[in-house]
Amino acid sequence: MALVVKEVRAKSILSRSGIEGISYTVNPYTGCGHSCLYCYATFMKRYTGHTEPWGEFVDAKVNAPLLLAKQLSRAERGSVILSSVTDPYQPVEAKYKLTRGCLIALSDCDFPVEILTKSPLVLRDTDVIVKCGRIEVGFTITTEDDRVRRIFEPLAPSIEQRIRALQTLHEKGIRTFVFIGPVLPMHPDVLADRIRPYVRRVMIDSMNYPSKTRAVYRTHGLSRWLDPGYVGSIRDALQRLLDTVPVEVC
Ligand code: SF4
Repeated sequence: MALVVKEVRAKSILSRSGIEGISYTVNPYTGCGHSCLYCYATFMKRYTGHTEPWGEFVDAKVNAPLLLAKQLSRAERGSVILSSVTDPYQPVEAKYKLTRGCLIALSDCDFPVEILTKSPLVLRDTDVIVKCGRIEVGFTITTEDDRVRRIFEPLAPSIEQRIRALQTLHEKGIRTFVFIGPVLPMHPDVLADRIRPYVRRVMIDSMNYPSKTRAVYRTHGLSRWLDPGYVGSIRDALQRLLDTVPVEVC
């Protein structure tokens, strides 16, 4: 599958957030090459002219860093999430460095930042991250089992790569968290043991759009994970196993 990448100019990049506790969202890309089967952001396709399926196109907002610096100079100070409807460190970021540019703009004006990604490419920007006054870096880690990851997140970095990157940032003294969302088939004890040493907090969310993946669960003999009661028991187990780590259930 060839990824179609288009360079576009955004009219606005700093958007008011609907997420509790977050003032603004910044999305340097529309579309996402990680191609997760359960992706909640597919509705963004309607804002593009793309006919390709979700996961096969990305619009790179090439003016994002300059536009963000301009918008930040007029904005009321508030927390920013990078990003809410795309992965800011998806593969095209290695070439375009738009997330890096946005991060520099945010560090220059000292807005609190929360990064959420599935990619160790975030490590490239450690030099900028350490200069940000208030910053947290979160990794989405939905299972500890890379066979499950390959089914649901076929083009995203492996679980091992994410955990290693999480550990690296933690060891550099950067505040880190893990977003377990959606809860995919897993061994909660193994996942809790792997992430517990490296996080300040954990957020857990269930599969919010099961219709997107119902057939995939069935094909792979994972149907019991479609039962909200069963997934709820795994969520409770995770909370218990994470012990002293603060857990927020979304
Ligand atoms: S990484 Fe996030 S935005 Fe990208 S496809 Fe996966 S769920 Fe969607």
